[in-house]
Amino acid sequence: MFERYQPDLDAYVRRVRTGPCFVCAIVARDPDFPDHPIVDEGAIVFLTMHPTQYGYTLVAPKGHREQAAGDFTVEEYLGPQRVVHRVAEAVREEVGAERVYILSLGSNQGNAHVHWHVVPLPPGTPYEEQQFAALILETAGALKIPEGEKTALAARIGQRMERP
Ligand SMILES: [Zn+2]
Repeated sequence: MFERYQPDLDAYVRRVRTGPCFVCAIVARDPDFPDHPIVDEGAIVFLTMHPTQYGYTLVAPKGHREQAAGDFTVEEYLGPQRVVHRVAEAVREEVGAERVYILSLGSNQGNAHVHWHVVPLPPGTPYEEQQFAALILETAGALKIPEGEKTALAARIGQRMERP
């Protein structure tokens, strides 16, 4: 459906480790981070920059927090998780995924702002290409999705999230 490419991982790592916090930059609408359409303002929701799967979406609290659990009270934690639930179902419906992966990664040395990856697995993906192989750029590569299509996809996910 879309060609794949290998992003410049050295440049990516440099930006991650020396640049501003990418989530805070997106919240602040920093023009250097234009490639992350926002589909919900409750927590912040945006498509990942180098998607290994079509519909790969990230969810983050708007405020800068780093520990996935420890920087939240239980009640505060449930706020973003409610958004993760809505995003996961919206993405699953939108792209017809056979499974949705949800995980939090990040590093204290870069990409420290906690965020959850919501990653749809296309139906019929061979077993060897599922799970970690479906997630990481080194094995899967990134999908070359035109900007207009990214914007439209984010809007469709946002519309599905609004349905009760
Ligand atoms: Zn931040």
